[in-house]
Amino acid sequence: MSVPFNFPYLSGREFDYMQEAAKSGHLSGDGEFTKRCNAYLERMLGSKKVMLTTSCTHALEMSALLLDVKPGDEIILPSFTFVSTVNAFVLRGSVPVFIDSRPDTLNIDERLIEEKITPKTKAIVVVHYGGVGCEMDYILAVAKRHGLSVVEDNAQGLFGYYKGRPLGSLGIFATQSFHETKNVHCGEGGALVINDPAYVERAEIIREKGTNRSRFFRGQVDKYTWVDVGSSYLPSELLAAYLWAQLEVADAIQARRREIWELYDFSIQNWASGNSIGTPFVPEHCQSAYHMYYLVMPSLEARQEFIAHLKDRGIQAAFHYQSLHLSDVGMQFGGRVGDCPNAERASDCLVRLPFFNSLARETHEKIIQAVVSF
Ligand SMILES: *Cc1c(COP(=O)(O)O)cnc(C)c1O
Repeated sequence: MSVPFNFPYLSGREFDYMQEAAKSGHLSGDGEFTKRCNAYLERMLGSKKVMLTTSCTHALEMSALLLDVKPGDEIILPSFTFVSTVNAFVLRGSVPVFIDSRPDTLNIDERLIEEKITPKTKAIVVVHYGGVGCEMDYILAVAKRHGLSVVEDNAQGLFGYYKGRPLGSLGIFATQSFHETKNVHCGEGGALVINDPAYVERAEIIREKGTNRSRFFRGQVDKYTWVDVGSSYLPSELLAAYLWAQLEVADAIQARRREIWELYDFSIQNWASGNSIGTPFVPEHCQSAYHMYYLVMPSLEARQEFIAHLKDRGIQAAFHYQSLHLSDVGMQFGGRVGDCPNAERASDCLVRLPFFNSLARETHEKIIQAVVSF
């Protein structure tokens, strides 16, 4: 039996709750389970409003609509991230401005942001890579000086902290993912976290096909009509029921992920530092969300040999993120080799180890043995 890179978590209550949702007769969005998930996340993040969405990608699209991103506006973001971080804004005609990663956390290098700000800059989008916080105090200060909004793509950061504050509570908006590869999931899903109450009403409208349906259901208007642009960003109650079965045991999920992360880190450190291999760096003032465990190999060749070495031992490891500035679209926006050296190095050299809650202890030991025998 080979060891997969990921196996989606199951708490065991998912199907009971889905049945309950089905029997309740309310299967479209915003029923009881959606409300429970939203309330949990609002409490956890100390946020004004959380709205479940169909994906993190869609929550990012909602952010771009809420910020009124127009053609020609510039969006500052890291090159080393998933395509959705950029696509949601380019979909509105904006121009991405890619920033290199810090060499240690691989997060956006905050010291490179200010020099890229122009009169066209509209927003800064940050990604807490692997669940470790970006340097938010610095980034928020830069944004404030220039009157810019900060959006957190918090797909990997839920349950992580920066200086005691939850990741996802720091930007004007944060976007969550409940894709099957994330710490808690419902197959495909997400949430928009709104930390400035001024945006709540318009977000409800955008999420409900550009109608004032939410206000109508609250009895605040007597008819429900088309009032703005919008789309369909509500997940079905079936998915919210599945998600609730995971959120209600999130503490246990996180405790288990921490254990897996720490065993990797403890067992691999010596071997890694003796072989010039990088491991995740968590600054003193950050608490990780334990989203992944990765290694940064000395070269692309070493990375490919390492993946083959694990594959020969029945273990699946995965690399990711071609730097966005060197993707087909990124190069059309002017991206060139050498623009973001740390991001390019991560694209070539980073590899992620299997990481999922049902990873058995013996399997975990077997992976560690395979790693340190490379
Ligand atoms: C997973 C992920 C996304 C996309 O999430 P979906 O819910 O699949 O849209 C976006 N950004 C980052 C950083 C991610 O890790």
